[in-house]
Amino acid sequence: MSTTKHEDWDAVVIGSGIGGMAAAAALSRVGHKVLLLEQHQTLGGLTHSFSRDGFTWDVGIHYLGGMAPGDRERELIDWLSETPIDFVSLGSIYDTIHIGSSEPLSLSRPYEAQEMDLRDRFPDQVEAIEAWTGALHEGREAMYKIFPTRAMPEIAGDMLDWWNRRAIAKWCARTTKEVIDDLTDDPELAAVLAAQWGDHGGQPSKASFAMHALISGWYLISGSWYPVGGSAAFAEHIIPTITNNGGEARAGTRVEGLMFEGDAVVGVRTEDGAEIRASVVISDIGARETVDTLLPEDRGHQDWIAEIRALPSSIAHFTLFLGFEGDIEAAGATKANHWIYPTGEVDALWTTAPDGAPPCMVASFGSLKNPAHDPGPQQKHMGQFLVWADWSTVRQWADLPAGARGADYADFKRRAEATLMAQFERAFPDLAKLVVYRDLATPLSTVSFTGHRKGAFYGLDVTPERVTSDALRAKTPFPGLFLAGQDVASPGIPGALWGGLLAAASVDPKVFPKFRA
Ligand SMILES: Cc1cc2nc3c(=O)[nH]c(=O)nc-3n(C[C@H](O)[C@H](O)[C@H](O)COP(=O)(O)OP(=O)(O)OC[C@H]3O[C@@H](n4cnc5c(N)ncnc54)[C@H](O)[C@@H]3O)c2cc1C
Repeated sequence: MSTTKHEDWDAVVIGSGIGGMAAAAALSRVGHKVLLLEQHQTLGGLTHSFSRDGFTWDVGIHYLGGMAPGDRERELIDWLSETPIDFVSLGSIYDTIHIGSSEPLSLSRPYEAQEMDLRDRFPDQVEAIEAWTGALHEGREAMYKIFPTRAMPEIAGDMLDWWNRRAIAKWCARTTKEVIDDLTDDPELAAVLAAQWGDHGGQPSKASFAMHALISGWYLISGSWYPVGGSAAFAEHIIPTITNNGGEARAGTRVEGLMFEGDAVVGVRTEDGAEIRASVVISDIGARETVDTLLPEDRGHQDWIAEIRALPSSIAHFTLFLGFEGDIEAAGATKANHWIYPTGEVDALWTTAPDGAPPCMVASFGSLKNPAHDPGPQQKHMGQFLVWADWSTVRQWADLPAGARGADYADFKRRAEATLMAQFERAFPDLAKLVVYRDLATPLSTVSFTGHRKGAFYGLDVTPERVTSDALRAKTPFPGLFLAGQDVASPGIPGALWGGLLAAASVDPKVFPKFRA
């Protein structure tokens, strides 16, 4: 039987992803007593790490933009952290693109360097490449015009959108594919320009180009970075800001629903029956998840709920976690990520699991990026082999709890793992010989560990409709209820960080001055 416990806080934040931690720490910094609740046993959301057999992997970070000294996002992270997190640059080359059987193309930063990488490979396409660089700059600026509206009253946000309507129509309302198709007929250049779409999960034919430009820009401006010690550093450094200012962070505490007084949200109910009161509740679990799992059906604001439900979920993914023993650099591993498109088609997801060949894969070697990693005498290293996938691959087991999905799911996983291992071996034959540990996570693992519906680790798909949606303001129509995290701003750590900060600023304007560069 559950025991009912009553508590009072200034604010309760649901979900300890970077968006939830940022919202909670920002409010703590300006004098609020905040309780952060996380369903998983480890704090950090997609920034958490896990270990098996002496290997440790980050679940949701391969590189970070916006973290160079002096970058706005880095300064905000420093403000939120009790002690500063150390970040290390991954060098000028951060991604290598493999399109079909063409020679791999390494992409560097800043914009000018990447333009030269492309001009060297596609000398007949100089005009298109220069226009692409210009579009990336303008698209990014257009996206930054939308961000502030997410923390503004509706009428002020609408006025700003109207003022910026030309830039929004040109860059936010068109897809990545539409912009590329206007620039070039060269299929290989078109594939290269779109290849990094996995950084936000919006397929080129569906994603708002401005979102692509925003996220590419984070890496292009000041390079790609990695937290020393791995992604768990975020929780290690940010949670103390909350607890040292009178707050608390509880792992293993699932919020089951919201408490209401009339129209207003006045607290949360947890799975164990506790009722926790607060005049502010911030949800970092995703806009759709908030609507579907925390809100009762009969509380009104059906237009807002319908608008959120009309926005589709992002892609899902499979990850093959790899443990190596040996000299992985000599065998071909690099700090740069590898984006592999064996057929040359980039606008595609894996729909033919478990046995069909995936159209798109990413290889990342986390231990090479982390200077605090000690490989020890056995030269232990970690890697991840990711595949962007459609939810339909695992839908048939979605209603069954983990551990009760039966022999056919076990067989599906075994065959999917074998398919991915064969693909890894084809791409990195020498590295494959050093693999001593492997484990596969499917989109159902994402659901179990994060609660993201349909395994949509990037939240809502970054379509033009989502990017321009009024429903994703941090302040919801329910008094006292706010949204944080990636759905408010953009997928990725910097975007989810902004989502958390916009939520905090919507609660207490004292946070706003911190946004100034
Ligand atoms: C494989 C992968 C690779 C990625 N690579 C990169 C990268 O290289 N660079 C980058 O910048 N970004 C990357 N990302 C994206 C980035 O990790 C996310 O965009 C970001 O972490 C999302 O943060 P968030 O706070 O919005 O949500 P989340 O981190 O998903 O946090 C939501 C939290 O809410 C909790 N929760 C859900 N329901 C409840 C409930 N009812 N009660 C209590 N708690 C609940 C969940 O357990 C979770 O901890 C990657 C993601 C993945 C999965």
